[in-house]
Amino acid sequence: MGLLSLGTPLHWDEAKQHADHVRRNGISQFLSIYHKAKDRENDSLLWGEEVEYVVVSFDDEYHRARISVRVFEMLEVLQKAELEADTPEKQAQLQCLWRPEYGRFMLEATPGNPYGSKITDLLKVEPNMRLRRRLAIEQCKPNEVPMTITNFPLLGTPDSVDGHNTPDDPASKSLFLPDQVINPHARFPTLTANIRRRRGSKVAINMPIFHDTHTPRPFVDPTIPRTNLRFPEYDASDAQVDHIYMDAMGFGMGCCCLQITFQACNVDEARRLYDHLAPVSSIMLALTAATPLFRGYLANVDCRWKVISQAVDDRTDEERGLKPLQENRFRINKSRYDSIDSYLGSSDGLFKPQYNDLDLVYDPAIYQRLVEGGIDDLLAKHLAHLFIRDPLVIFKELLNVDNESSSDHFENLQSTNWQSTRFKPPPPNSPIGWRVEFRTMEIQFTDFENAAFTVFIVLLTRALLSYDLNFYIPITKMDTNIDVAHRPRAVLDEKFYFRKNIYTDKCDIAGLPEPAEPLTAESVDDEYELMTIDEIINGQEGGFVGLIPVINSYLDSLNINVETHCRINQYLNLVSKRANGELMTNATWIRQFVRNHPSYKQDSVISPEINYDLLTTIRRITAGELQPPELFASC
Ligand code: ADP
Ligand code: MG
Ligand code: MG
Repeated sequence: MGLLSLGTPLHWDEAKQHADHVRRNGISQFLSIYHKAKDRENDSLLWGEEVEYVVVSFDDEYHRARISVRVFEMLEVLQKAELEADTPEKQAQLQCLWRPEYGRFMLEATPGNPYGSKITDLLKVEPNMRLRRRLAIEQCKPNEVPMTITNFPLLGTPDSVDGHNTPDDPASKSLFLPDQVINPHARFPTLTANIRRRRGSKVAINMPIFHDTHTPRPFVDPTIPRTNLRFPEYDASDAQVDHIYMDAMGFGMGCCCLQITFQACNVDEARRLYDHLAPVSSIMLALTAATPLFRGYLANVDCRWKVISQAVDDRTDEERGLKPLQENRFRINKSRYDSIDSYLGSSDGLFKPQYNDLDLVYDPAIYQRLVEGGIDDLLAKHLAHLFIRDPLVIFKELLNVDNESSSDHFENLQSTNWQSTRFKPPPPNSPIGWRVEFRTMEIQFTDFENAAFTVFIVLLTRALLSYDLNFYIPITKMDTNIDVAHRPRAVLDEKFYFRKNIYTDKCDIAGLPEPAEPLTAESVDDEYELMTIDEIINGQEGGFVGLIPVINSYLDSLNINVETHCRINQYLNLVSKRANGELMTNATWIRQFVRNHPSYKQDSVISPEINYDLLTTIRRITAGELQPPELFASC
């Protein structure tokens, strides 16, 4: 996330009165940006990744691991170089940038400057990730470790927080998670409280429990207090049987991920990237799955995505369809954090209206204004959909800003629509161009794995653009894919909708693997089918060509030195073997570790001891002291 604005945040009761003001000016800001930037051409193919860490505090004497909420002390030092870089020359020298995140136990780091379009830039990722990890470790106490784990397995259990014992203030009203785990910057407690206030109740997250041989059936969680002693009205009535119940935004936004942002050469190319990367996002969620444990239990899911989705779901009962519409204007089928709802289309001419098969909810007045302001139908609908939401955090001092030089109101809505891919207009008056962010991947234990998945996505983007590939499938099929991606071992046991023929008339097929499918299909429904992730990634004998074979053709068409090619192959090998089951996902490995732990009682419970041993082992894997062959063999 970017640097944060400061000011006095408004309580929801007041903020909601300014919602239309923010939306109106947000649209003015977008129109201003759009008209200034729509003709930008030849922006270079810059890109960057974001890595998030949980800072874990180990107690080796009592075999406990807790989260450390000391990151602001660490950030003070980590951000020093950036704050002192007051000239473009100095900024160009920065090696990495540090940002706070939602959790007071989380760090986010990106490269100091985006990477460029040279193929050798791919090899800068892993050393830069290593450097970031080293710098973070330097700011840790000897017992603390910044870990690239998607979530902290015991978050929300008693005795899981190490550090400041600030008084509990009631932003989340959680039965499990004290406010002291939230970033204290006004934006975050306000976001937390305003989501709850807007919704009219605490957020309710229910993830299915994994029923092991000794897990009670039905599973009624004995650790859930029957009453909320401090805030009696915020009880556990939303807790579902056979589920792990969580009741605070921090359970979701306390998760870490690996995101990649690309700058396109112009707005049209950004729309193209947005559309074609979206169908890949659910596949990559399954392939990077790393989150089978929540609040001290083994879950029957492998990924974080739906936890975050439910953790920030600010829709009211009316909007969720539980009551007839009276106060609210729309029934809304998804949380603010979810898969994309519509494609944008581009001049590649591959978009068909049938792909936008979701009954899109959008604000007709905003749509009208955008169309009158010169925005085409698909982009206008995308924005008019994002703008059905209310702004959640409004700073009093920033209500009235200059719409030509500020994008605050636009960003207020844009940055709280957390979708699987994000279409990012340039900031006003900046050298930055149109960008697209790929947001679904789970963070992996090691820099090698995180670099591998980053490199894979970057190369896929290059192949997509150079060969004019086509990944379109209907939006609702993509939504199904996201659901399926959560299932344990989805990467091996499930099938996903994917386009059968990704080549187009414009592709120069010479040099690419032979397509098995004819180039044209009779109807949209003939264009896709269910495939395993192995088939999607590695290809199918006599069938789908496979994304890695296409990437390999792309690499063969370039003049790459042996050393670079060799390293890239190691990355692609990891992705390929995770897809075909020769190697495990992080989630499968964690699940197996827990189930084989000598003190595990086959009851789905992650004891503090199991948690400590698990995190200690991951810590050693990350440091390179252990290389479990089931995660990395012969890569
Ligand atoms: P967020 O929307 O997640 O807050 P930021 O704007 O902070 O994103 O950017 C995060 C990512 O974008 C980083 O990986 C960074 O390297 C990359 N990035 C920054 N500038 C550019 C650019 N001009 N083009 C492409 N990527 C960029
Ligand atoms: Mg982040
Ligand atoms: Mg990001």
